[in-house]
Formats: sequence, C-alpha cells, structure tokens
Amino acid sequence: MLEVKDLHVHYGMIEALKGVSLQVEEGQIVSLIGANGAGKTTLLQSISGIVKKSSGDVHFIGKDIYKESPQKIVADGLTQVPEGRRIFAGMSVYENLILGAYLRKDKKEIQEDLQKVYQQFPILEQRKNQDASTLSGGEQQMLAMGRALMARPKLLLLDEPSMGLAPILVKEIFSIIQEINKTGTTILLVEQNAKMALSIADYAYVLETGNVVLSGTGKDLIESEDIQKAYLGG
Ligand code: ATP
Repeated sequence: MLEVKDLHVHYGMIEALKGVSLQVEEGQIVSLIGANGAGKTTLLQSISGIVKKSSGDVHFIGKDIYKESPQKIVADGLTQVPEGRRIFAGMSVYENLILGAYLRKDKKEIQEDLQKVYQQFPILEQRKNQDASTLSGGEQQMLAMGRALMARPKLLLLDEPSMGLAPILVKEIFSIIQEINKTGTTILLVEQNAKMALSIADYAYVLETGNVVLSGTGKDLIESEDIQKAYLGG
C-alpha cells in the first residue's frame, strides 16, 4: 500500500532523512519508533507531501505522491493526524469533525461516518457543541483522530498520539487505534512510547538519526536485547 524507497530529506544543510526505506502492507499496523530528533515527524510529513524530498520515492497505492497535490493525496485515501493534534479553536467539536470531510461530497455517507465516529468516541458526541479548545488533552487526541476518520482514509498516519496523556488514556488511545485498524484502516504510527507501539504492531521500524537501523515484527523487536536496552528501559 505504501512504499518509501531511499528517501533523503534536507532542512538547509541538515540531512534529516538519510535514505529511509520502508513498506506498509494493506491491513497492517506499522510502528515507527526512535528517539527525539530521529526524523520520525519528517518521515510522516514527507509521506503526506508536506515536506519536500531531496531524493528517493514515496508510492501510495502505486502512485507517486510527489506528483500529486496534498489534497489529491487525502482524496486518494491518505490522512495524517499531526503531532500536537491541531484542533481548530473557536469551532465546535462537531464543526471540527465535519471539516475532516471537506473534500467529500457524499453527504449521506458523511452523516453515517459522523455517527460511526460518535460510536467510537462517545465523549465527542456528548461534547459536540462545545468549543474544541475546551477539551482535555485526551479528548483532543480523540477529536483529531475522529476528524481524520471523517476523510475515510485507507491509510492513517498517526504522529505521537500518546503525547502528553496520562497512562490510562494512553491505553485507551492504543486500543482505539487497534479498533480502527480492525474496521479496515491501515495504520502507520509514530511513537516515543516504544513499548505500546511495538505491542500493537504487525511490523515496526527503528529510526536513529535519519536511518532505519532495525526492523522486524513488533514481537521480535520487543524481545530484542538492543531494543530492550535502548527503548524499553531494561
Ligand atoms: P520528535 O519526536 O522530537 O518530534 P522526530 O524523530 O520526529 O523527533 P524530526 O522532528 O523529524 O524528528 O526532526 C529530525 C531532525 O530534523 C532534527 O534534527 C530536527 O532538529 C530537524 N528539523 C526538523 N524540522 C526542521 C525544520 N523545519 N528546520 C530545520 N530542521 C528541522
């Protein structure tokens, strides 16, 4: 579904990605872990066409994403939930959700998807008329995910969904990610919480200073001694 080949990205003189290759197959949850500054966000932003590449390729369902506009990429089924959630303040929860469907014209299906999002995140229905900026951190993460689902993505890119959340909410968010995957959405997840990210991953990649240094099934990586020492605290 997604294929990244030898991707290089520069910010001026800094080379943030030094030839990254990875694959995401339809139906999978793929996790990308790595320390601060490893290049995880840069990788997600280059996959969604927000950050320009220096060289390499990104293909999504067979199409070269650099030949398409960011809008076309979303219309093709690739949606990103950005780091920090980027909720629209001054707009209600409902309005934020509907904005997620801004490229769609299928009014009836949009309403059906809204009901599905409300089923998945009951708190969003309870809060639908409230200004989105008044939501708690966990609720804002749910809103950001719900908004992304309103685009009916085939592939959902999640950047640090657990950031800043209390442990109990982290668990809840990860179980929602698994539910979303079960309903047919493929997921590429970037996380600092390596333990949780590996525990739900079909496959995972470890990024260090712009390079993939290790990859394998989530289970293999959790059991790897190097990963235990570097990312799992023991
Ligand atoms: P974090 O988990 O802290 O967000 P990350 O793994 O997502 O880290 P990136 O944000 O992709 O890492 O950053 C990779 C490297 O590129 C870092 O050295 C960072 O300082 C640099 N970088 C990121 N964005 C920019 C930018 N807009 N201009 C210049 N350098 C940048």
